[in-house]
Amino acid sequence: MKKIWLWSVLLLSGCHSGTGDRQVFTVDHHLNARSQEPRVKMVVIHYTAEDNASSLRLLSQGDVSAHYLITSPDGKSAPAVTVYQLVPESRVAWHAGVSGWRGYTHLNSISIGIELVNPGYYRKGGMTTCTLYPPSQLLALESLLQTLVKRYAITPVNIVGHSDVAPSRKQDPGPCFPWHSLANAGLGAWPDAGTVSQFLAGRSARAPADPRVLIALLSRYGYPVTDPASQSEQTRLIRAFQMHFRPAGVTGKADAETEAIARALLSKYGTLH
Ligand SMILES: [Zn+2]
Repeated sequence: MKKIWLWSVLLLSGCHSGTGDRQVFTVDHHLNARSQEPRVKMVVIHYTAEDNASSLRLLSQGDVSAHYLITSPDGKSAPAVTVYQLVPESRVAWHAGVSGWRGYTHLNSISIGIELVNPGYYRKGGMTTCTLYPPSQLLALESLLQTLVKRYAITPVNIVGHSDVAPSRKQDPGPCFPWHSLANAGLGAWPDAGTVSQFLAGRSARAPADPRVLIALLSRYGYPVTDPASQSEQTRLIRAFQMHFRPAGVTGKADAETEAIARALLSKYGTLH
């Protein structure tokens, strides 16, 4: 009985911030420091590899989440797609996991996560292939990205895929994700074709290149490199880079064109170090 009474007192006193009714300070908002920047610095794009209903359930009830989920058109409802906001932008969503980009780690705390409903990869005629993203879904994504870029002054290099920031673990949003057309809409990075051919300098696109040189370039662009000498890590990093910037040729091998693309990106957007 005594215990119950004590708890009641504690609960009641909690309403008064532990100081009773007395106000001990005021917050003065009239100054605003010059040195500051948005907490959100990047957008990470994913696919769910599930249908609309399972994606919504997993991302709202499960151990992972994203700020936004863009459904796939089911042909029944209008408008064709729905954009769910599942986590407020001011809060951290659990979408990136162990990740790194341009020197930052723990990207969940500095990014907005967007999940697109897409089945991902499937086997067809003995080949693994990815699933195209419907135009209405991409239109919704573009519109959402425009508002985020504006709100947080997100730079083109900081609009990335999950596979860019976790290349050893993740393959989404995959080579079917249209990074090039997104860049044509003013969103995300893309190299200038002229600069790529300049750096290609007459070599054939698939001529072998030095993987160590390529990995060093990818690291300077922002890719998280932990063990540059590891062959399996080299392959995964090169695959991730090619999925983003040369989806027609995802080989995991260093070649002249992949190296020229990396150099063209660095000359356009600057190097990290
Ligand atoms: Zn993902």
